[in-house]
Amino acid sequence: MTMLSSPPTDLRQSTAVADALSETVLPAVGGDAPLATPALRSAYAIVIVVPMLGLLAAIAMSWGFGMQPIHLILLIGGYILTGLGITVGFHRLFTHKAFTTSRFMTAFWAILGSMAAEGSLFIWCGVHRVHHQFSDTHADPHSPHAVSARAVALAEAQSAHVDAQRKASIVAGDAEPAADHDHDHHHHDHDDHAPGFRGLVSGFWHAHAGWLFRAHPADMERYIPDLRNDPVLRFVDRFFFLWLAIGLIIPGVIAGLVTQTWTGAALGVLWGGLVRILVVHHITWSINSACHLWGARDYVSHDHSRNNLIFGILGLGEGWHNNHHAFPTSARHGLAWWQFDLSWIIIRGMELVGLARNVRLPSAERLAAKRRTA
Ligand SMILES: [Zn+2]
Ligand SMILES: [Zn+2]
Repeated sequence: MTMLSSPPTDLRQSTAVADALSETVLPAVGGDAPLATPALRSAYAIVIVVPMLGLLAAIAMSWGFGMQPIHLILLIGGYILTGLGITVGFHRLFTHKAFTTSRFMTAFWAILGSMAAEGSLFIWCGVHRVHHQFSDTHADPHSPHAVSARAVALAEAQSAHVDAQRKASIVAGDAEPAADHDHDHHHHDHDDHAPGFRGLVSGFWHAHAGWLFRAHPADMERYIPDLRNDPVLRFVDRFFFLWLAIGLIIPGVIAGLVTQTWTGAALGVLWGGLVRILVVHHITWSINSACHLWGARDYVSHDHSRNNLIFGILGLGEGWHNNHHAFPTSARHGLAWWQFDLSWIIIRGMELVGLARNVRLPSAERLAAKRRTA
């Protein structure tokens, strides 16, 4: 590299060096991954915007025709059922293997999770396994800290690069040895997101939904061979759009039968379908954004995961996210008696009636060993 022979005087202004480093030293992943294809980005824009339009339409229509109790029941019931499809199925059963179950229940949870419209099963689980592998580093697909994690990694790489240049210059006799404290410039506080309010907002947005517009982690397939080997899961994954459509049609049919009107049926699709998807989406995405920013850190984990009371309850137990990162294979996320965890209650109920086996929980010793005292 010819660039090495003439070190720039002010390295912070040397974008050429930074660009070269960012391409050669740091693979473009996480917060800096290349954009997804235009077709995929359009699809995700539709997935994000259509449920919002659905909410507006649902409100406008309900204003004129009157929302009936069945529509609220379909919204809340659909949210709990498809939400559990994500939390019990996609997350705890398929991604983390927190318990085992029958083929019928495997298909049941996989189909319910697909109805949440958060992407097909293999993509969901692959992305989430990469998230656990690289939590809150620059390779995390959806960390609110990705920007600063990348900055830290880049600064460290640049620091090593500068050291190498200095050594080369000193050997060549055209530079004075640098004082040791110079290195401290590059030791950033890893607890920071990109500085300031703007950094917080951009980090939050990236972790919440912005990451959807980035290409999937390049080697994601390496993370899901076990899932691809399961014929039931292959079947459910292949027909993702079918389950999605059924999830919109069912509430329409139920509401139509109950109200005996076409308007009632349409409102069923809106409230029990699109608005329900909107609610499940943003609560799930808040686990990635809010639960890596705000809340208690009760257990040692090598990331910024938090136990967040609001999303512990709304997220059907998934908001006890620091617990989860400390004990990823645990079927129970709400580890304290007061940490409400509906998904755990369902899994425990399945175990009691013989539908869940090999239910994994951290031992008392492991809990004590990872407990933060400070
Ligand atoms: Zn996480
Ligand atoms: Zn997880």
